[in-house]
Amino acid sequence: MLNEIAPNIFSNSYQYCRPPHPGDVIAAFTKQGVLKTPHGGFYRFSDLSGAPPEAFTHLIAVGNISVYCCDPELLQSLRPEAIALPLRRLRTYQPQWLAFAIATASHLAHWYRTNRYCGACAAPTQPSPKERALICTSCGFTKYPTISPAVIVAIHSGERLLLTHNPILPPSVRWALVAGYVEIGEALEDTVHREVAEEVGLKVKNLRYVCSQPWAFSRSLLMGFSAELDGPDTIKIDGVELDEARWFERGDIPPLPNTATLTNTLITAFKNKKL
Ligand SMILES: [Zn+2]
Repeated sequence: MLNEIAPNIFSNSYQYCRPPHPGDVIAAFTKQGVLKTPHGGFYRFSDLSGAPPEAFTHLIAVGNISVYCCDPELLQSLRPEAIALPLRRLRTYQPQWLAFAIATASHLAHWYRTNRYCGACAAPTQPSPKERALICTSCGFTKYPTISPAVIVAIHSGERLLLTHNPILPPSVRWALVAGYVEIGEALEDTVHREVAEEVGLKVKNLRYVCSQPWAFSRSLLMGFSAELDGPDTIKIDGVELDEARWFERGDIPPLPNTATLTNTLITAFKNKKL
């Protein structure tokens, strides 16, 4: 999965006062994606001579390389040749540790960008000196980073696995699994039962947690489950989120486009009789 970057070590410790070092990666995000050099790499602080260190916000680190964000207009003024890489392309970008670092940076940078003003009183916010939080300069309201929990469930019945197709997925992703966001007031198990009923009209039992994945592209934490079909196997798709769902025999499951996702991890586990 994209977040499996060992032996590299990911760190999200809050480094409020750390100025950028020359080799640190600078990530600036536009609506089109993350700005990078025309030849494939990302900019380092040493590429941006003349930029004031206080213009950069420390986000995360991998090993001894930190990732900072800055205003994309600043980076474009210093490096007008910069081009945008769509974030979805990070799923297959190499090296993988850098792809995961930039994706994670995009989640945090989005949070900083969309919380510049207080949601309670609309005054400007400023970073906390103590922890990853933005504090209102007027009323003191504290805003912490936001993560949207979601579940993905591999529904199986004997030798068959249920695969789904969502029309908004990129063309490279032919098949997926039932998935959805956790709503307020739900336990994860409640979300699994609700999403399975809503999307494919089935009931499930014997839920088992498998593993999780941070998924910055939807600013989510994905939690993967397996579940056994409980009752009739007739699929009734919702026609809204899904346009197709089908049972596949274990040996007929189609090849998967890449290994970055929790969905693929769950499908592969079923194929290999490990669910
Ligand atoms: Zn306020």
